[in-house]
Amino acid sequence: MLEKVGMPFIRKACIEAMQLMGKTFVLGRDIDEALKEGKSATQKGYIHSYDMLGEGARTSRDADYYFQAYLHAIRMIGQSSQTDDAAKSQLMLKRPGISIKLSALHPRYEYAQSDTCESALTDRLLELCVVAMEYRLNLTVDAEECDRLGLSLRIIKAIIDNKTLKDWDGFGLAVQTYHKRSGAVIDRIIRWSKAAGRKTAIRLVKGAYWDTEIKHAQVEGLHDFAVLTRKENTDLHYLVCAKKLLDNRDIIVPMLGTHNAHTASSVIEMAGDDQSGFVFQRLHGMGEQLYDQILSMGIPVCIYAPVGTHKDLLAYLVRRLLENGANSSFVNKIYDATPVGELVASPYQTVLNHNGDHRHSHIRMPSQLFAARTNSKGLDLHSNTSLYPVYRAIESVADQKYNAPCLVDGEAYRDGTRHTNTSPSNRHDAIGDVWYANTDCINTAFRTLKKGHQKWNDTPAAQRADVLNEIADLYESNTFEIMGLLVREAGKTIPDAIAEVREAVDFCRYYAVEGQKHFVEHTLEGPTGEKNTLALNGRGVFVCISPWNFPFAIFTGQIVAALMAGNAVISKPAEQTPAIAAYAMRLMIKAGVPMDALAMLQGDGDVGARIIQHSDVAGVAFTGSTQVAKTIQRALAEKDGAIVPLVAETGGLNVMIVDSSALPEQVTDDVIHSAFGSAGQRCSALRILCVQNDVADDVIRMIKGAMNHLVVGDPSHISTDVGPIIDQEALTQLIDHKVELEGIGHHITQSPYDERLDQFGYFLPPMMAELEDIDMINAEAFGPILHVVRYAEDELHDLIRRMNDKGFGLTFGIHTRIHGKQNDIARHANMGNIYINRGQTGAVVGSQPFGGCGLSGTGPKAGGPYYLHAFATEKVISNDITASGGNASLINL
Ligand code: FAD
Ligand code: NAD
Repeated sequence: MLEKVGMPFIRKACIEAMQLMGKTFVLGRDIDEALKEGKSATQKGYIHSYDMLGEGARTSRDADYYFQAYLHAIRMIGQSSQTDDAAKSQLMLKRPGISIKLSALHPRYEYAQSDTCESALTDRLLELCVVAMEYRLNLTVDAEECDRLGLSLRIIKAIIDNKTLKDWDGFGLAVQTYHKRSGAVIDRIIRWSKAAGRKTAIRLVKGAYWDTEIKHAQVEGLHDFAVLTRKENTDLHYLVCAKKLLDNRDIIVPMLGTHNAHTASSVIEMAGDDQSGFVFQRLHGMGEQLYDQILSMGIPVCIYAPVGTHKDLLAYLVRRLLENGANSSFVNKIYDATPVGELVASPYQTVLNHNGDHRHSHIRMPSQLFAARTNSKGLDLHSNTSLYPVYRAIESVADQKYNAPCLVDGEAYRDGTRHTNTSPSNRHDAIGDVWYANTDCINTAFRTLKKGHQKWNDTPAAQRADVLNEIADLYESNTFEIMGLLVREAGKTIPDAIAEVREAVDFCRYYAVEGQKHFVEHTLEGPTGEKNTLALNGRGVFVCISPWNFPFAIFTGQIVAALMAGNAVISKPAEQTPAIAAYAMRLMIKAGVPMDALAMLQGDGDVGARIIQHSDVAGVAFTGSTQVAKTIQRALAEKDGAIVPLVAETGGLNVMIVDSSALPEQVTDDVIHSAFGSAGQRCSALRILCVQNDVADDVIRMIKGAMNHLVVGDPSHISTDVGPIIDQEALTQLIDHKVELEGIGHHITQSPYDERLDQFGYFLPPMMAELEDIDMINAEAFGPILHVVRYAEDELHDLIRRMNDKGFGLTFGIHTRIHGKQNDIARHANMGNIYINRGQTGAVVGSQPFGGCGLSGTGPKAGGPYYLHAFATEKVISNDITASGGNASLINL
């Protein structure tokens, strides 16, 4: 009752607080209001650069809207600014202007989409520049995330070089000095401006996305951070860059954006006797006292003035609050009564005090993210230089034949039936031949491994771990070829291919660490005179059966876990991806896995079924469909002899719940990635999206808009978002599912795609179908088909209960900004992996151990601390040490 009465008041208070905060940092809800509100500052002598809030268009409609908003704003600013003769002779740095975000002007402003977005963005920017030039306004391109820098510079160069803009000095860009490359960027702009014979403005800022950049590098396992990691380094770098700008005032208009009084006064100091030709910039709502003083010194000051409604201001407000709240921030320190000595400390001196140690000691390098092991190496997918070796490897792999015989005791077996495997993106591309295991081969494998098992199990865990680490290193040194194979044989896109190699490497290193912890003798507590020990051992010959959708990572993960636990292993890779498995096997043997401890039997489900039947199977690790897991479980149960354990990781019917507080842009990114990434062929992929009625129209519209820009096609191109379906059988099943949905009257939205692709491979464009009820879907459709249902707020718990009742329990996404609701939903959803306000695929070994419950698997989770135990037997030895005489240790007390 109280809650019901209290809610409207809490809501009202929150809305008012938002409005208050909005007013502090945002000049007006639209450009007319902003122009009016800005008058008092203009009268004081300030200039304005207006920023139309809203960033990161996800759809063409959003991008068109922002473009029109910019265009309208430029006209309004132009019309409201002085245009008389006096204005014509006014210095450009005293004229007002506008700030533009390229991410608002195109839904795919990404390096990978350069082929399409670069020219489109250049055209749009040029159009805005021409209008800004007509009104003698400034136009500055904001700086965004570092991985967009290269693409943005190409667009900026095109504008600098454009002859129609030659006599206009109002064009500029922001440069972030936390970025290690900013000095080089400034040099380039100087060079380009000189060559074009025109001035360019550079707004120097320290940068607003520092925490995002740090996380990005860690997540992607990059070689290093793009940004500096000590605040004083950024401060010093700012001054070095500012000096460069001031020294080039003949060709550059320095615009110095900072609220740090020390930084600003150092700039004034560096400018020396000539205090002209540059402008300071501050954000609306910040730095008034500092800049009132600077203005009174006759130095021009421009206010960066955001304009927008409450709907658009969140991302901007969050950045302001983060910046002002950080205890390293100058603004925070001033209000925090930091001693003046510290406030005015020279960054140069502080940097020197670190004695050449330029890195922040508390920020882990991407490679050192995990204390006990080296993180796998990633790849910068936003640069030609780092992608070049990938393209070369893809080409060289395409030229080779990859045969895949069975491998037993180090020997290739080619006695069984021969098949030719082809690429899913081009069925005419024969990758190589594969020979299925016949009964003789299966028997030989078991005989060999049964003998080899004991020796391998007796090898100390530390030595077995060394072998696993060596496998990881060999994988890393062959990354590009493996990626080439994954692209060709499994139809993986380039980002998916590097992610898969990394996962395999992480499995090896993670299980090596875990194995050394657990596969040693543990002494247990007990009474005096008794020694009790517990030790883990391999079970014998473990059979590992893997799927095609992670033909390298899951294949590797199962095998190395079983090996680490002291088992000998028979691997049975998926019939669709034998060459990748054969390649991995070669590296495992090269790394030191004894030939009589590891065998590979190629073949389809029939071969798998025959392997399972063998009397020497000591355990089975299976990843694949729920249906096959059940078949295996029944087959094992019916066998005579020992009870054989089964570790099964199977399919899911994965849901994401989106409530009315969720951020639609973030939801769209996460839905697109989770549902359509890897062509929906991940067990964790999103299958059912549940959106609260109140926001459903907007969210669904945005997802449809984003689907329009997905690129379906050849996975060897970096621009491809969605590669092929694995084979004709899988494609037919998905098409049947689509037809079934249409048959019951459901409208299906589909991404565009070039039907000529069908001549080559098995392609299916991403699709979204709106259903009336979640009960209309009860089985996994393993591809890029997303089902959407709407729900009312009061149906939430019922919805979760009905999802639980379906019996699957793999991944579950929650998008809400309400903390209590996150916990509530997470508590009620019976799912193995729950992801809050992020995508629900791409679990990281050790960080998000992965695996489901119910119909989705038996557990324990792969990449988690309990996994290895499932591959082991436990042996306890209790020794009465008094039996051979007295209790010496007790007597000696
Ligand atoms: P300080 O307190 O002196 O510096 C804070 C800054 O130091 C942080 O923001 C960060 O950049 C850096 N920093 C903090 N900790 C560390 C660390 N451990 N290691 C390395 N560096 C660290 N930002 C953009 O990204 N793009 C833009 O286009 C942009 N436009 C702007 C326009 C104007 C007019 C202004 C004033 C700001 C703009 N900003 C932009 C935001 C700007 O980047 C921040 O306001 C600025 O970084 C704050 O720096 P400061 O000198 O005012 O404060
Ligand atoms: P699948 O079940 O058809 O095949 C998996 C493996 O089992 C293949 O190697 C296949 O040859 C073998 N196999 C088939 N019948 C067999 C039998 N009777 N006896 C022994 N082995 C047999 O699955 P798939 O199509 O390769 O993979 C896709 C499925 O895997 C999806 O359902 C997906 O959700 C699931 N999957 C689950 C996880 C997870 O971690 N939970 C991970 C990846 C894939």
